[in-house]
Amino acid sequence: MPYKDKYDLIIVGGGVLGTFSAYHALRLGKSVALIERNKTPQEATVRNFGQIVPSGLNQEWKKFGFKSLEIYKQLQSIHDFTVRSHGSYYVASNEDEVTLLHELLQTDKSIDYESKILSAREACERLPGLKSQYCAEALHYPEEVSVDPRKMISLVIDYLTEVYQLTYLPYTIAQHFELDANGDCQITTNTKIKLTAEQLLICNGVEFQLLFPEYYLNEETECVKIHMMMTKPQSSLRFYGNVLTGLSIRRYEAFRECPSYSLIVEKNAADPRIKQWGIHILFKQTDNGQIIIGDSHHYADAHDKEELGFDNQQDVNEYILDLAKEIFDLETYQIDTTWTGIYSQAKKVDIISKSIEGKIHILNAIGGKGMTAGPGYTYYHIRKLFGHD
Ligand SMILES: Cc1cc2nc3c(=O)[nH]c(=O)nc-3n(C[C@H](O)[C@H](O)[C@H](O)COP(=O)(O)OP(=O)(O)OC[C@H]3O[C@@H](n4cnc5c(N)ncnc54)[C@H](O)[C@@H]3O)c2cc1C
Repeated sequence: MPYKDKYDLIIVGGGVLGTFSAYHALRLGKSVALIERNKTPQEATVRNFGQIVPSGLNQEWKKFGFKSLEIYKQLQSIHDFTVRSHGSYYVASNEDEVTLLHELLQTDKSIDYESKILSAREACERLPGLKSQYCAEALHYPEEVSVDPRKMISLVIDYLTEVYQLTYLPYTIAQHFELDANGDCQITTNTKIKLTAEQLLICNGVEFQLLFPEYYLNEETECVKIHMMMTKPQSSLRFYGNVLTGLSIRRYEAFRECPSYSLIVEKNAADPRIKQWGIHILFKQTDNGQIIIGDSHHYADAHDKEELGFDNQQDVNEYILDLAKEIFDLETYQIDTTWTGIYSQAKKVDIISKSIEGKIHILNAIGGKGMTAGPGYTYYHIRKLFGHD
């Protein structure tokens, strides 16, 4: 592929932050090169649930989640980018969690975001397999969507390449950076290509060592490793939408902002494994009937990332499945696949967003909300970068 003498923007990293930054810049008429070290992205962006749930974000970040919904739906109106509009359900298991659902409902009303309380019977009707003994009530968000993370980002990259002439460089590692005599950004790759651009954006996920390690390898950034599982296809059982349960109600930021949150969470002494392994129980059914079940959260500082290891711990998975079986009666809990994923997270802020000499921009550590907030956040970020505030 011929390269341009100079791009408006070079992006390092084809995950959700890099690819959607490319999408927004291209739509502003800018020329963009996207460098990805693998053939297609292989990290957090393809290993996640694909639950797009602005409902769970804090007040400040909801606007990015809402913008993402708009972007995903707009893409889906053009072509099948695997965006499914089946909404989200938070299933409460007791009176305390029900209280939090009702408090979040009030917040939703105040910001005019559609949500509805479902009785236990209504929730069980909508979600076949959901156990009536578990469900006290549910909160439904009809506007929310999910994506197939294993396919979506590659489909977007292909689309940008075909329709917007994105220069995509797969199997390429951005290794070295310098400002040339004209003040332009020059990136050198492992394949000895030199690319020049007006601006450089680095969205390198958990690859901290190669570019500007000083921004990540400090005590402000951590890595979070997650265990995930997927069942064999269910033969006839089908439920649609993102399903989040009591433990998510006890952890998601939107609920943390509810008036009764601290009282309720302090009151309940949970099984210590839930805290130790950071367990949530979430479900999502894929288009072919498999059920994705997760998850757990294991933490290490960015410079100690290796301590998280590469193992998929059987005791953690078994415990997740024990808890899942208390919530859903599936036709089969036989596990087809297990995997882990790691994302980076800033400890004190919602994202690391830094600019160096007005030319180099670092965007990373969006945490566990990247699929939900990433497309929307990058919309505003890219507009600002090109002076379209
Ligand atoms: C198991 C799991 C479940 C999750 N579930 C959800 C969910 O349901 N909803 C939600 O909103 N979020 C979820 N998340 C969070 C979400 O996946 C992340 O926030 C998001 O994917 C981070 O995207 P990113 O672009 O920052 O990083 P990444 O996806 O890690 O992308 C970084 C990319 O940069 C490339 N790269 C790095 N360095 C270089 C280099 N020097 N040269 C070339 N390429 C380079 C890498 O190969 C990689 O493709 C989940 C995360 C995990 C792990």
